[in-house]
Amino acid sequence: MSTTIIYLAYLIAASLFILGIKGMTKPRTAVRGNQLSALGMFIAVVVTLFDKNILSYEWIIAGILVGSVIGGIMAVKIQVTAMPQMVALLNGFGGGASLFIALANFIDPESATHTVALVSIAATVLIGGVTLSGSFIAFGKLQELISGNPIRVPGNKVINAVLLVAALVLGGMLVAEPYNLTNVYILVAVALALGIFLVVPIGGADMPVVIALLNSYSGIAAATTGFITGNTVLIVSGSLVGASGIILTQIMCKAMNRSLFNVLFGVMAEGGETVDADEVYAGKVKSSSPEEVAMLLETAERVVIVPGYGLAMAQAQHAVRDLASILEGRGTDVKYAIHPVAGRMPGHMNVLLAEAEVPYEQLVEMDEINPQFEQTDVAIVIGANDVTNPMAREDKGSPIYGMPILNVDKARTVVVVKRSLSPGFAGLPNPLFAMDNSLMLFGDGKKAIVELTQNLKEAD
Ligand code: NDP
Repeated sequence: MSTTIIYLAYLIAASLFILGIKGMTKPRTAVRGNQLSALGMFIAVVVTLFDKNILSYEWIIAGILVGSVIGGIMAVKIQVTAMPQMVALLNGFGGGASLFIALANFIDPESATHTVALVSIAATVLIGGVTLSGSFIAFGKLQELISGNPIRVPGNKVINAVLLVAALVLGGMLVAEPYNLTNVYILVAVALALGIFLVVPIGGADMPVVIALLNSYSGIAAATTGFITGNTVLIVSGSLVGASGIILTQIMCKAMNRSLFNVLFGVMAEGGETVDADEVYAGKVKSSSPEEVAMLLETAERVVIVPGYGLAMAQAQHAVRDLASILEGRGTDVKYAIHPVAGRMPGHMNVLLAEAEVPYEQLVEMDEINPQFEQTDVAIVIGANDVTNPMAREDKGSPIYGMPILNVDKARTVVVVKRSLSPGFAGLPNPLFAMDNSLMLFGDGKKAIVELTQNLKEAD
């Protein structure tokens, strides 16, 4: 294949990646964005394999078929709630692939002779190793194969510092003595250990932030691999993944009002005042029934639905869409308020509601919906808790103080659908449940909404 054709194909692949990412920024164009990126990846893989004469076309076709079947089955079978685990696993594979390419290049005396390649190998082994083991620990926590709680290892921070210094020294030795294989093997072990010790102390609920960060690492490892093999498209795509992973990590930290430092070092709900749930709720919580809420909705002109993690757990997205259709049929204006970290992964609510074919125009971002709550007759909060907690706005001593929230308490009436008064991810009581304008509709999210919809239908 001529060099011009190869570079042209790489340019097309890189452009498709960029267009793909742009498409993924909006729900309406997200599917096309995904398809464009997949096409870009297909072109990049095929051209690279032909270019380097690595494999004959029979093997390329066989590999693509086997990979596509495995990927296709995983994509179809995976539950939306299990998506973070799948992303963790795929990040781990990405880091592992880069690690193996770097090792193969180092072991081959022909390929790794110049300094740029050697420095890239050292960086790839370190970052790829950390990504591989860290992602597998994240997967294990989310899949509940190991405890999702933060696992405190005595001296963890010192161990991490020692491992990092050892990795940097070994990386230097690897560049200085390119034919000494012992250094590279020890570096692999140190990088894998570092990945484990970095992720083990972090709680399962913080894993999505960690996964976004590991995603960024897998991109950086791919980019450094591109420098080893002299593959431009790998450098471009790796840099894109690295940069977007870091941006996503930042967005998530900002939406939780937490620094990356305190996510990584497990500082959550520490240092703040402890609030006694009994004190917040005693004698103030009003329980309601589907009949009562249906009556309230019959006269409501504007309704805002606020989905949260519990909606995903209850798989109530279709039931919610049915409720909204009934309300709209009666002339009620219905919108959905989307908080950036509602649920357990970025875009969790958008994905769930899209699955139930809720029109995109009805999904309104936090900043846009907040001023509208004062004109809202009923806000229905389904399985959301922290993202509606007024303590984040008002209580300076609270561990979640400063986290932007959906101001549902400003609506005329707030109906909160959840099973009990149990706290959400942050482990804090929510004064919203005890407010004068709040009604609790206790029960499983899906069951409660189905009953509510039935009552509304009967009233028609
Ligand atoms: P929360 O975790 O605050 O609360 C979820 C609520 O859902 C619980 O209080 C629970 O109450 C209820 N629930 C659970 N199962 C059901 C069910 N079957 N039916 C009805 N209700 C149910 O969720 P939010 O979405 O409000 O907030 C997300 C939290 O996750 C935030 O603290 C955020 O910072 C954190 N987070 C989010 C990330 C993201 O990317 N989205 C990443 C990392 C963390 P009960 O048991 O009483 O039913």
